[in-house]
Amino acid sequence: MRKIDLSNFQIATSGTAREVNRRIVLNLIRAHNAISRADLARKTGLQRSTVSLIIEQLMTEDWVVEGMVGYSARGRKPTYLRLNTERLGVIGVNLRPYSTTIALADLNANFRAQESLPTPPTPELFLREVTRRINNLRQSHSGLTCEGIGVCLPGRVDLGTQKLVFAPNLGWEDVDLKTPLEAATGLPVALENAANACALAEIWFGRSEGVRDLAIVTVSEGIGTGFVLNGQLVTGPTGRAGEFGHVTIDPEGPPCKCGNRGCWEVFASNTATTAYYRQIMPTHRRGHRSNAAIPEPTFEDVLRLAELGDPCASEALERMAGYLGVGVAMVATALEPSLIVLVGEVTRAWSRIGPIIKKTMAERCPLKGATRVSAADDALQPRLRGTVALIIQKHFGAPAVA
Ligand SMILES: [Zn+2]
Repeated sequence: MRKIDLSNFQIATSGTAREVNRRIVLNLIRAHNAISRADLARKTGLQRSTVSLIIEQLMTEDWVVEGMVGYSARGRKPTYLRLNTERLGVIGVNLRPYSTTIALADLNANFRAQESLPTPPTPELFLREVTRRINNLRQSHSGLTCEGIGVCLPGRVDLGTQKLVFAPNLGWEDVDLKTPLEAATGLPVALENAANACALAEIWFGRSEGVRDLAIVTVSEGIGTGFVLNGQLVTGPTGRAGEFGHVTIDPEGPPCKCGNRGCWEVFASNTATTAYYRQIMPTHRRGHRSNAAIPEPTFEDVLRLAELGDPCASEALERMAGYLGVGVAMVATALEPSLIVLVGEVTRAWSRIGPIIKKTMAERCPLKGATRVSAADDALQPRLRGTVALIIQKHFGAPAVA
């Protein structure tokens, strides 16, 4: 139970009650995807006439449509209601340091179209290119009405200014992406850290629906973490909470882009792993005279080589997995989420790295058995689903209360 904040509260009006009831009805329709007005009245305890009024409003606003007609032995046959996924859509933008993906999805996070581009080097070029592509995408799917643009980023978004702050792997500082994107597209824009967005995707679209304490670890160029605790996304007072990737695990460790040394991400990220591969390779392949002859491998290369049985790539991934285990144990010990989900390309090698992460965690975590660790399915594009969740939650989430 939350204590009422006496410096920032809103008293309940009949409008608040209506909004709460409307969202409960909308969520029941989403959960069942074919439900009659009578069943909605039974499940909510609301009067049939109240349910009918809410449905009328939801249909006027295009959120809900009537579908199949059901069977009834006597009396009127019920008409089933479902979400209007054919009409309403969401634009998602997954911004990463090297590549950006733009997608158009329906309300269930099924992607209708998507395209990727190398991330433009400056925020100005990024905004210009992304706006152009979003406008093209909307024009080619003019049957869909877009409810908003969700953007996930490798950084933190300040809760007050909505500016991108602390994005060491992107190198952009104190940037306003929201205002120009809203002005250029006429759509509301929601920005969120990638790990937080993935946490929301698990809650709204994942296998974790119903889980109230969840941690996400995004493993990419750096490491991000996002938390839903007691059913609520953890932001901290400014929006920067959850930076376990920049917690020091070795004070004498290599320098990190954040300015510190020995952060978790300099040991366990994709970037760290390609560096391990480069270090390990010459000792295995004596034929090479110098590193200069070896082309720079990408993390994708390391994954592919490990799959082909390359011992250097396997060793690099196993070293990464050990360090992932160290950090996952830290997260589990600090917050005891019931579930920690890893997100990223590395999850494709889960059969290799999963057991190492779990073993390291079991050795280091003094709380035994309270937290499960699993991998998100990389093929489901968890980051992009997170961008859809950012818009969905505004319409389906519980309204803000005192
Ligand atoms: Zn750092």
